[in-house]
Amino acid sequence: MSQVVNVAVIGCGIFGAEIALKAKALGLSVKVYEAKDDILSGASMNNQNRLHLGFHYPRDLETGRQSIRGFNAFRQKYAECIQADFSNAYLIANSNSLTPIGPYIDFCRQLGLPFQEISASSLPVKVTGADRGVLCDEVVYDCRILRDLVWQNLRREGVDVALGDRVVKVADAAGRYSVESQKGSRILADVVINASYGDINRLTEQLGFPVSENLYEYTAVPIIRMDIPRIGITIMDGPFMTLLPHGKTGNFLLYNVTQSVVTSGVSKLMDASWQMRETAPFAKVDKRQFFKKMIALCSEYVPALEQAELVGFLEGPRMVLARKEDSDARPSIVNNYNGNYLSVFAGKIDHSIWVADEVGELLKAKFAA
Ligand SMILES: Cc1cc2nc3c(=O)[nH]c(=O)nc-3n(C[C@H](O)[C@H](O)[C@H](O)COP(=O)(O)OP(=O)(O)OC[C@H]3O[C@@H](n4cnc5c(N)ncnc54)[C@H](O)[C@@H]3O)c2cc1C
Repeated sequence: MSQVVNVAVIGCGIFGAEIALKAKALGLSVKVYEAKDDILSGASMNNQNRLHLGFHYPRDLETGRQSIRGFNAFRQKYAECIQADFSNAYLIANSNSLTPIGPYIDFCRQLGLPFQEISASSLPVKVTGADRGVLCDEVVYDCRILRDLVWQNLRREGVDVALGDRVVKVADAAGRYSVESQKGSRILADVVINASYGDINRLTEQLGFPVSENLYEYTAVPIIRMDIPRIGITIMDGPFMTLLPHGKTGNFLLYNVTQSVVTSGVSKLMDASWQMRETAPFAKVDKRQFFKKMIALCSEYVPALEQAELVGFLEGPRMVLARKEDSDARPSIVNNYNGNYLSVFAGKIDHSIWVADEVGELLKAKFAA
């Protein structure tokens, strides 16, 4: 006899974990599958660790609004992983910015959050080619500490997490779903929630639901060591760069809008070879050359980067809506296909809080009926 649960969650990044905790808090039985050997090992670990408030998306106010909805709750819930002790600056490139400084300041006012207009010369680290901008209250989170905190919550609530076990098939089973994993287990679930990020379309399409094309990017973010004050510098708005503290590690993360995207493409399904580092596109890249180019591009704005020492790389897939270059929108979307099968299109980390609330409301309505 197959195990029967109320809710099966596919993927244990921050979105899957938050949803599983919410379902458990509603008194439901929950089983989570994670393909990797640990939770939060996908995009939730391999990103720029910025807790957004919207300052990065001046061409899409909605991404900011969605971030504001989750920011404080995330910050409070996971306070121990938050690094807020640094100046966080967004500066507008003097040339070729898609949003010039005037409209950017107007946008910041529209966000309705505190910010301070600054000149780059007031920062403790020299910046060239971007003279004006703002300081804001965005923070970063430490991904490793976050993982520990999420584990504590999952264990305390007794959430059943199967690690290193990829879901390979979801199928209708007489009013429930059967969920089959790579290791050969099979359970029956009243509700399936697909939070597998870059792979959400694979199982959704297999079930016969329509899926849209997405933009898939394979990304690489150098972790660097530098002898400068802890600081965040983001050059806006276009193919520029970001330097941010790497959580509480004392290192920094460096991102360049063009160079950090190793390869990309618009399609319905992410290339399955991107699921594992050994077969992913970055495996074939000469890391030394890659880093050299990155430093050449980024030191144009932050000359001190010429002294940066490479510590390692964060890497992995990103999924964003296709054909949104005009707005660069990064929303989160809960797709409710039939009340029993849901998928989560993840935008920003702090969106996970209200996405889990929304999913919780749907579960409450379903299981109360
Ligand atoms: C380079 C980069 C920079 C970014 N910077 C930021 C930032 O600074 N701030 C921010 O808020 N957001 C940022 N993002 C976006 C953010 O990382 C994602 O929106 C978020 O991590 C998505 O969380 P998730 O839980 O949906 O996905 P993930 O954390 O990727 O979790 C999905 C999990 O599902 C698992 N999985 C997949 N298929 C299956 C299956 N069939 N069976 C079982 N498990 C499966 C995967 O192994 C994975 O662990 C960035 C993303 C990238 C790539």
